[in-house]
Amino acid sequence: MDLYEYQGKQFFAQYGIPVSAGGATADVDEAVTIAEKAGYPVVVKAQVQVGGRGKAGGIKLAENADEVRLHAGNILGMDIKGHRVDIIWVEHASDIAEEYYASFTLDRSAKKHLGMLSAQGGVEIETVAETDPDAIAKIWIDPVDGLDEATARAWVKAANLNPAAEDGAVDILTKLYTAYTEGDADLAEINPLILTPDGRVHALDAKVTLDGNSVFRHPEYEQYEASQVRDERETAAHEKGLQYVGLEGSVGVIANGAGLAMSTVDVVNQVGGKPANFLDIGGGANAAVMAGALEVINNDPAVRSIFINIFGGITRGEEVANGILGALERVTIDSPIVIRLDGTNADEGRAILKPHLSDKLQMAPTMLEAARVAVELAKR
Ligand code: GDP
Ligand code: MN
Repeated sequence: MDLYEYQGKQFFAQYGIPVSAGGATADVDEAVTIAEKAGYPVVVKAQVQVGGRGKAGGIKLAENADEVRLHAGNILGMDIKGHRVDIIWVEHASDIAEEYYASFTLDRSAKKHLGMLSAQGGVEIETVAETDPDAIAKIWIDPVDGLDEATARAWVKAANLNPAAEDGAVDILTKLYTAYTEGDADLAEINPLILTPDGRVHALDAKVTLDGNSVFRHPEYEQYEASQVRDERETAAHEKGLQYVGLEGSVGVIANGAGLAMSTVDVVNQVGGKPANFLDIGGGANAAVMAGALEVINNDPAVRSIFINIFGGITRGEEVANGILGALERVTIDSPIVIRLDGTNADEGRAILKPHLSDKLQMAPTMLEAARVAVELAKR
């Protein structure tokens, strides 16, 4: 779940990371109220989940109420790289001596957390990585060990931050690490992390991605689910409790189990097709679940054929077959369907399906063959 800057800052503040006083609003008058409270000058910032807002005109300084009104009015409703601005964040403006970059993410291949720190902040880190990779100090943190102060201090020195920023940066980085780990974040990024002329260090921006699977540990994260910018198909699937990822191709994929769904996507690619999605219906393949899955896929105009790949385990073949037939009674599907059914009681399941087979509902004995047929149908 990607957070807006203002949500990220509220998240940071809970862990004691200094951010500027401010408030979020969708209303020009309220923006002025927030500005008066924060104290002039203020910055008015577009809240969209995309970087480079400053260059796009989505970040403006305001010295007084009239300027807040002007900028808030202009920024609300603005389009930034295809994202409409519905909310602005207004905060007390900071004086900036230096801009740094700091982040934590997971390095899956190293099985460690990766911390990146650079004295060259304010610009996109990808640009720094390209033009001056040595300017990024990286550390890999074993989650069992965590990040202690001495390590953080050595890291800050390695990144060549201004010595005046050292203590503040060490403090923020250790807190950011705590926020990132305890908060179950996949990404916690501050860019820029600033040093003010009077020697304070604080977060001027916040980019936070929380692990959606951690909501059970953090019930308060439910508030963020509502504001996710999602693929429409994903929203529909999510509401039905399905594990769904939208892709770019034309073969709709339904499988039971994430492993099988991934293999199915691979096999479709292998035989020259492009999957339109990844949809895992989980353990149960009953009529209601199958109907929901088919409905989601049928509503995707890019889908030309549907590949249902089921390996019966606890769910038996005849249950799956009845589930598919039941689903087809409930929803009308535009694209031809190819079924591969294997595993527990596959023969019984196939026998149930057999009388119902047609051009629109085909069956193939193996995953590879079913994929070939589905890809062929998608090309027609
Ligand atoms: P982004 O471009 O979308 O990442 O938005 P940021 O929040 O990072 O802001 C972009 C730039 O605007 C920063 O790098 C700063 O140079 C500038 N900026 C943002 N807030 C302030 C502020 O309070 N004071 C000053 N002087 N500049 C600011
Ligand atoms: Mn930024």
